[in-house]
Amino acid sequence: IRRPATNLDPPFHVGCQNPVMNVAPRANATLVMLARNSDVSGAVHSVKSVQTQFNDHFRYPWVFLNDEKWSAEFMEKVGKAAGEGVNVKFEKIPRAMWGYPEWIDQDKARRKMEEMERRGIMYAGQESYHHMCRFQSGFFYDHPALESYKWYWRVEPDISFTCAITYDPFIEMEKHGKKYGYTIALWERGTTVASLFRKLSDYKARVHIPSTSLWTAMIDPSYLPWPFRRFLSLLRNRDAYGDIWNMCHFWSNFEIADMDFFRSPAYRSLFRYLDEDGGFYYERWGDAPVHSLAAALLLRPEELHHFSDFGYIHANLQYCTHAPTDEARRRGELVPMLEGRGEELGCRCTCDLGIKIVEPVCLNRIKQ
Ligand code: GDP
Ligand code: MN
Repeated sequence: IRRPATNLDPPFHVGCQNPVMNVAPRANATLVMLARNSDVSGAVHSVKSVQTQFNDHFRYPWVFLNDEKWSAEFMEKVGKAAGEGVNVKFEKIPRAMWGYPEWIDQDKARRKMEEMERRGIMYAGQESYHHMCRFQSGFFYDHPALESYKWYWRVEPDISFTCAITYDPFIEMEKHGKKYGYTIALWERGTTVASLFRKLSDYKARVHIPSTSLWTAMIDPSYLPWPFRRFLSLLRNRDAYGDIWNMCHFWSNFEIADMDFFRSPAYRSLFRYLDEDGGFYYERWGDAPVHSLAAALLLRPEELHHFSDFGYIHANLQYCTHAPTDEARRRGELVPMLEGRGEELGCRCTCDLGIKIVEPVCLNRIKQ
């Protein structure tokens, strides 16, 4: 049985709120989707879900980003899905933000990609996926179409929101001093980011970033005495103390964040350090672990927000606000998960019992 979200980071509201369309002021925010022309049906699906569950009442603009020219079909179908009265922009990503930087040895990169592909690392053999992860890690927030916005909500093709979102998450985040919000946190596959943690922990030492409780929560400490720990530190992806990242990370295919966090000198210099290392190509660093470890390094725990009230489906995994107990499953019913105060999480939520539910295990660890 799932434990309810802890009170450390309670939902901004419980239950359903009254629509606030045209009453409350809006935040300086936009919905953002990176997609390919071939993602058109998935993009329509996602836009409809976000519009129905949230944006029909709030009318935030959409920005669609692509490294190639948008097809007429994509713009027509997706524009229609967003509906009347919503500002929609279809933008191209500048060349300088997508592709190999000059210091990458492309032959070596391709060799490494083939090697990783052979070892069964998902997407590792796909050059464009590496460009995508690098773009989402270090460039999207500088795209000219996003420049004037402070907040963004990332949406991917083929996702669904399974609750009505009846309050403005941007406004609430702003009000509560939040910088980064997520709904799913899970364990990364170590093979994709073999040296990322070590890189970041070395960086942390180099620029004297003090440990935060968030960073500590991302680590499985080694309790061995020093000489043994020193030995451990020689192993892959351990830090200089022999400790290891517990692989917990926030899934970034949904995230709501203050872009000023990514635009800060601290994040920029961290990204540059990683970029120069080449791990976006020689390994397959994803933007999710990069955002997560950067947040753990640079943000205070209070600046993170878990949207525990946003039911969400991405591909074959979902975060669900209702706990499907064995008994409930047999009867095909769902038991609402309660917030600390004994109130029901979310508004008009529906879970899909056919899709694997992610237990917020690594989350609980972070909250400790
Ligand atoms: P997954 O979520 O990690 O399984 O990967 P996806 O295939 O869903 O890709 C993540 C996001 O990046 C989605 O929004 C895709 O549409 C987008 N994406 C991936 N590769 C490319 C690409 O080569 N070009 C563009 N424009 N978008 C891409
Ligand atoms: Mn995806």
